[in-house]
Amino acid sequence: MNFAFEPELLMLRDSVRRFVQEELMPLEAQYANEPDIPDDIRARLQARAQELGFWAFDLPEEHGGGGIGYLGMCLVFEELGKCNAPSFRAQTVLTPYLGPVLFHCTPAQKQKYLYPVVKGEKRTCFALTEPNGGSDPSGMRTRAVREGDHYRINGSKIFITSADKADFVQLFARTVEDGQDRGVSCFLIDKGTPGLRLGQSFELMSPDRPWELVFEDVVVPSAQLVGGNGKGWELAREFLDVGRLIHGPKSIGRAERALQLAVDHANQRTTFGQPLAKRQAIQWMIADSATELNAARLMVYHAAWKADQGMDFHVEAAQVKLYADEMYMRVVDRAIQIHGGIGLSRELPLELMYRDARSRLITEGSSEMQRMIIASDTLSGRSSLNRLNLEG
Ligand SMILES: Cc1cc2nc3c(=O)[nH]c(=O)nc-3n(C[C@H](O)[C@H](O)[C@H](O)COP(=O)(O)OP(=O)(O)OC[C@H]3O[C@@H](n4cnc5c(N)ncnc54)[C@H](O)[C@@H]3O)c2cc1C
Repeated sequence: MNFAFEPELLMLRDSVRRFVQEELMPLEAQYANEPDIPDDIRARLQARAQELGFWAFDLPEEHGGGGIGYLGMCLVFEELGKCNAPSFRAQTVLTPYLGPVLFHCTPAQKQKYLYPVVKGEKRTCFALTEPNGGSDPSGMRTRAVREGDHYRINGSKIFITSADKADFVQLFARTVEDGQDRGVSCFLIDKGTPGLRLGQSFELMSPDRPWELVFEDVVVPSAQLVGGNGKGWELAREFLDVGRLIHGPKSIGRAERALQLAVDHANQRTTFGQPLAKRQAIQWMIADSATELNAARLMVYHAAWKADQGMDFHVEAAQVKLYADEMYMRVVDRAIQIHGGIGLSRELPLELMYRDARSRLITEGSSEMQRMIIASDTLSGRSSLNRLNLEG
């Protein structure tokens, strides 16, 4: 077993680390509690990323990306994860918020949707969750009723990230033909299509501000359907598997930053004549955080490696999301405890990280949903209890 990364990948990681330090961190204090950065700053940072050759580093080469694979992506996203400004959390200054659904586009759809997103000219959003429930999308009420070569769509979605900035929506809706339910399908719907509008936005404890999207008699040609009629669940699962895998490196990056702050503070702060770092109570917190961080990192690398081999990583992605996000919550909680009162203040990024970590236990599938996936797999006996599958 070889734990070494390719030198080129480490060079890319180091360059992105410098970019984060030099370009993003100086903006953090100003934008950390904002839902987004101004468009002119985004455009400048995106242009700088393109100039440095990072832009779309993680996307497959065949679609115009850098093609570094999932393992490389995870390594680099750890660096991005260290910065707290929310729009950077959405990675969008270095690579488009995309997901694999658009890879299933027809050649004509790729020209109109995929390539402009890969080039950073268009933005998109992923609309699955509905007001009556996100964990159980089988209760989906949004309907796309076939009328000749068109579909008429009615329904609504909530908590949709970046819906306000998206040039088009990746919408999941139940398709109905001749009065028969044909399963869930994915449609690409352009901003400005009559009947599509933004509803309310949600102010959350984290700076994220997702939106409601309303569809009232939205008529779209059947050519706007992506990946085939009734293929929506497969596309959504593929999107969520990648999304949950990416939760891993981002939580790791943030947890690493929180741990570093805790270590620095424990070394500097003296109470009762000794630095905090000399106290066993503090050392154990640091030891637990360092150990859990390492466990999460190995879990992420293994899941990403499986994804790169073309193996199914659905359960691994659930384990990564569950463990890495809960690890981040615990690490930042301990870091605040080690800091005492100043840890709760807005002078440090820890209180924001705490709010962010809390939110991550719900987004892209709650911890309970990840446990359901893992338990169902483990109890079914369908797969081996040893999920390493290193033999290939
Ligand atoms: C910041 C943010 C951004 C988001 N962005 C997007 C986006 O871009 N696109 C999108 O489609 N969605 C998005 N979402 C929605 C998100 O995926 C859902 O909020 C999430 O899946 C949970 O769904 P829910 O809120 O409807 O909770 P519910 O499904 O109502 O669940 C409520 C609680 O019950 C638990 N629960 C539910 N069923 C069970 C069960 N069987 N057993 C045990 N516990 C159960 C859940 O774990 C949860 O704790 C976003 C949400 C947030 C907060």
